[in-house]
Amino acid sequence: CGPHGQSGTIGAGRCHRYSSNKPWVGRPMQAFEATNFYFDQAASVLDLTDNMRTLMITPDRELRVEVTIEMDSGQIGNFIGYRVQHDNARGPFKGGLRYHPHVDQDEARSLASLMTWKTAVVDLPFGGGKGGVNCDPNKLSRGELERLTRKFVQQIHDFIGPDKDIPAPDVGTDAQVMAWIMNEYAKYHGFHPACVTGKPVEFHGSAGREAATGYGVAIVTREMLARRKQTIAGTTFAIQGYGNVGNHTANFLHEQGGKIISVSDAYGAIVNLEGIDINALNEHVALHRKVVGFKGGDPSTNEHLLTMPVDVLIPAALGGVFDAKMAQAVQAKIIVEAANGPTWPEADEIFHARDIAVVPDILANAGGVIVSYFEWVQNLQHFRWSLEQVQREEVSRLVESFSKVYELAERKSVSLRTAAFMLAISRVGRARVLGGI
Ligand code: GLU
Repeated sequence: CGPHGQSGTIGAGRCHRYSSNKPWVGRPMQAFEATNFYFDQAASVLDLTDNMRTLMITPDRELRVEVTIEMDSGQIGNFIGYRVQHDNARGPFKGGLRYHPHVDQDEARSLASLMTWKTAVVDLPFGGGKGGVNCDPNKLSRGELERLTRKFVQQIHDFIGPDKDIPAPDVGTDAQVMAWIMNEYAKYHGFHPACVTGKPVEFHGSAGREAATGYGVAIVTREMLARRKQTIAGTTFAIQGYGNVGNHTANFLHEQGGKIISVSDAYGAIVNLEGIDINALNEHVALHRKVVGFKGGDPSTNEHLLTMPVDVLIPAALGGVFDAKMAQAVQAKIIVEAANGPTWPEADEIFHARDIAVVPDILANAGGVIVSYFEWVQNLQHFRWSLEQVQREEVSRLVESFSKVYELAERKSVSLRTAAFMLAISRVGRARVLGGI
């Protein structure tokens, strides 16, 4: 296990260290492996022992359950659900539920691990978890979606709860799904609104939760630009993805005078070098459920969006967007990772070599889980905060976390990603040691 190997019982005989510095050469990487690669980069700078690395990388518990429902047609629908509980050294497991055809064990592991580092980097009293159901929610009726959600809760309700593991929305799930989760959970354990976050505001949710991730992305972008003596006004942006995160990011950047020259969704992209009128685009999207066909821009492609000359590029869709080839083609100066895991390690290395700054996912999109924390706190206290208070507290946490990460990166001459992981790993490691391994 290399020079830092230690004898002992924890993790003895198992080693997650990579034999090569470039594990992606000659074979495809998996998502969890990529997350652990970033972990390892930071762990090396911190001089973490192999035993601690193994302890911190390995998920605490992994659930894989069958989610069987009756479809509207009368047929039986058989789906697989996952919940990976990665680490709870700093507090209950926390993280979203994803409904998407790509959901599998490896993806859930990778995303659960990212949640551990994300909650730690912004100093929330949570650990990390993630899960979901392998399904295509666009092909399910509302009734099927509700039955699927309730059945999934029936399968995992003993393992979640306000002080155990708190799910939240992610790709393919929304406030309505969270409301069903809260209601189904109550049938087994009684009224506990803090068992899930991202609920509708009128059903124990928090003001500002829906826009929180996008708002946070805009705040972090503002902070990053400020370090370069730039402002959102007068800066050009391209945003990949126009779901909850991409949409709210665009709204806030537009409000601050940012010039959004391209946006995309699963169906295609639009481009307008003069700047897209985001309010008009939102009206179009409300009507047609997609950005393509919008009159205020020319049709374009996702690939063009990712490679066009722009100041700030914001991936806000699924993971795995940037591979080596794409990283060479990117012309942006700054990348802000609104999505989870958009950059493969091979691409990260190229961005670093090309001096393209990457604000990592665990910091850039942490606004969502920060406001989830505020929702949890409000639920536990049976008290409501105003939108102003939620946003003020969200901004203050993000600004402070950004400064800590940025200054650590400068001090240690490492990337923002490595600095963010270093900060997070130190906090989780400290909690592990204090609590007793
Ligand atoms: N799914 C979001 C994320 O990846 C939010 C998680 C949460 O609020 O627990 O950060």
